[in-house]
Parts: sequence; C-alpha cells; structure tokens
Amino acid sequence: MSSDLQSPDVIQPTRRVAVGALAAVPSLVTLNPSYDGIGCMPRDQPPLPTPRPHAAGASVRLIDVSRHWATAKALDCISINVAPGSFTVLLGPSGCGKTTCLRIVAGLETATEGRVEIGGRDVTRLPPAARGVAMVFQSYALFPHLNVAENIIFGLKARHVPAAEKSRRLTRAVEMLGIGHLLDRKPGQLSGGQQQRVALGRAIVAEAPVCLMDEPLSNLDAQLRADMRREILALQRRLGITMLYVTHDQTEAMGMADQIVLLRDGHIEQDAAPEAIYAQPATSFAASFIGTPPMNLFPLEQRGSGMVIRGTDGPVLAPPMDGDLVGGIRPESLRASSHGIAARVRHAEYLGADTVVACAAGASTLLARLPGRVILPDGAPVHLVTDEPIHLFDAASGCRMPNIATAKESVRA
Ligand code: ATP
Repeated sequence: MSSDLQSPDVIQPTRRVAVGALAAVPSLVTLNPSYDGIGCMPRDQPPLPTPRPHAAGASVRLIDVSRHWATAKALDCISINVAPGSFTVLLGPSGCGKTTCLRIVAGLETATEGRVEIGGRDVTRLPPAARGVAMVFQSYALFPHLNVAENIIFGLKARHVPAAEKSRRLTRAVEMLGIGHLLDRKPGQLSGGQQQRVALGRAIVAEAPVCLMDEPLSNLDAQLRADMRREILALQRRLGITMLYVTHDQTEAMGMADQIVLLRDGHIEQDAAPEAIYAQPATSFAASFIGTPPMNLFPLEQRGSGMVIRGTDGPVLAPPMDGDLVGGIRPESLRASSHGIAARVRHAEYLGADTVVACAAGASTLLARLPGRVILPDGAPVHLVTDEPIHLFDAASGCRMPNIATAKESVRA
C-alpha cells in the first residue's frame, strides 16, 4: 500500500481506561500537553495529508514479534498474516497478549523484537498517526465535554480536514449508524450502545484501511452485544476494511471471524478459520476453548484391543497407541443409545433447544448436548455413542495426534 495511509485516529491516550471511565480521557490530555487526541501526534507536527476514501483494506503482517518487560513476556515471537479486507479475531484468555498485539499494530506499544507491516510497508518504527489505522476501545474513549458530532469528527478537525469533507464523512457515518437524532447530545446522555456507535462513527470517518477493535462490546448487555456484533460485521463488509478484533469471547470470534488467531501465554496456539479450529483443533487447549459447551477431554488407557476412557471397561475408542493420550468428543457429537460408553447422569441442564447432560464415565465427566428436553434423573445409567471419529491429543504436549479412521466403529450406534 502506498504512503497515503495516514489516518491518525488512534484516540487512546492511556494503556487501560476503566470501564465507563470516560473522564479518564481529558485527564490524560492534561497530563500530556503534547497529546492532541489523534494518535498521540504532537501538536507541533504539520497536518497530515487527507487520506483517500476507503477503497479496500490493507494487509497486516506481524513477523516474529515479541514484547517483554522485566517481569512479563506478553508476546513470544509470533507471526500473523491478515489478508486485506478480512475480519481477523485475536482470541484467548485474559493475559494471553491480545491487547499487546493490537497495540503493537496500532503503534501504541513497541515490539521488543520483530517487524510489523501494514499494506506491505514496514511500520515498525512509525508513530500511530502514520500507520493508516483507526482504533475502537472497550472504554469508547469519548470526550465527555463534546457532543456526538464533535466526538465523531474530532480526529479530522485536529488533522485540518476541510470542512466540506468533514461534513461528507460525518453524514455518511451517521447514516450508516442511524444516530442522526443524537448529534447534539453529550456522551453522558447516551446509552452504552449509543456510545459504542459514536466510537464506531469515529473509526468510520477516519476512512483508514485498517480498523483495530479491543473488546468493543464487553460493556454491553447480551442482547445489545449480539446486535452490535452483526452491525460491526456488516460495516466491515460494506467498507471493505481490514479488521483486527480482540475478544476473549469464543462465540463472538466464531460468529464474526474469517480467521481466528488463538493466543495463549504469548504464543499462537492455532491460527485458522473458525470451522477449521472447531473441526480440527491443533491442541487440547484449542479444543477446550472453542465450542459451547467445550469439547469433552478425557485420559485414555489401553484395555483389550485398544484405548478406552480411563477407568471404564470400554468400548474401544482408538487403536492401541504408545504414550499418554487424551481423547476428545464434542458434546453435540454424543447421543444416548442402548450401548456405547457406560455412564451415570450427574445433572442435566435444560437450555430450550437442547439439554446438556453431564455424565460420569470412569474418572471423567462427559457433557452430552441432546436435542430437546431430556429428563434424566441424577444417577440414572446411560450409554453414549458418537458417529464422529474421536479427537486425540498427546497428554504431555497437548498437540493433536493424526486422525484415526477406525476409532468411531466401536462407539457407533
Ligand atoms: P485481557 O483479556 O485481560 O485484557 P490480554 O490478553 O489483552 O488480557 P495483555 O493486556 O496483552 O493481555 O497482557 C499480556 C501480559 O503482559 C499480561 O501478563 C500482562 O500483565 C503483561 N503486561 C501488559 N502490559 C504490561 C506492562 N506495561 N508492563 C508489564 N507487563 C505488562
């Protein structure tokens, strides 16, 4: 991508703004007199050229990027390729390095090692303002003393974008987001969802080819979150921008992403399309992180002609294999039958469309997601079967073992 990638709309003066703590923004502006609210750009810098309108998103590449501090290693030599115009989700548990990764792309954090490219251009040492990225934060980072319209165009004003252009972009963003009736209100007079839309508006008017979002929906209730999820995805598709989106919510990731980068302790556990992670998790961690409820994982032991769930008499789930192995079956792959894995009901949870039944089998607990309302008293004996080959993982490394075609035969109905 050419050097016209200049949309300094990274409005995040602080590392962590507490949830709903909008007041944190001006206080930081006070703390840092050179901060002008647009991508930490010093006030005395000349205005940047107006970026061209969205055409297509730009590619984003992280190459062997590490970030460590004296006491912590947030990222350990990770490489990520994000295709132009795609929706990529950085997913993982708290502390795995998602935010650090996003901030390194934004230029708000510096990589200790490695390189960052946006649109094929090395931006590793460039300031946020020169990277062509817009960013939306969990806290929204709206200025409480400015109204909605002023908040949306704040970054453009500071960049001296001509009035007619500002007005065109504002009108377009406001139409897209359906917030035309709110333009005169201050953030304090808006609901959480409305504030989130204003933050999105600010990202839209930036017309940057790359948009970075850090847990943008985590302050919203479940229903609004689902609505906003659809809105963000539709916006990304419509604008054709590249999206890099951080969340710890795997359902959000599965529903939105073209590509999921699953992080754990600063390294990449798996980088693949949602359906690939679901169907072929590369590790037992990936297997347990994706899916609702997550995959059943259980230790295997050799008995008779093959491997059975430890502490059970069978059936055989895999041919004999060396080493400590962990087996995996998705709860939705299990069904009740007259034969199969002998288990006892621990408890059943009715969810409407289906019932999740927790069963004890040997030393393990298996969750079975059975359609409809299933009434099974605690302690009732059941047998479970699956039509799918089971997943196999090395117990020590957690790595996936090669698929085995024969395993399912013995637990078929
Ligand atoms: P969460 O979902 O809780 O926001 P995360 O996956 O975004 O977590 P990061 O915020 O990227 O994780 O942090 C990764 C690790 O780096 C954590 O162990 C964190 O404590 C550490 N870390 C982050 N920033 C700093 C810092 N400025 N100094 C020292 N350690 C840091």
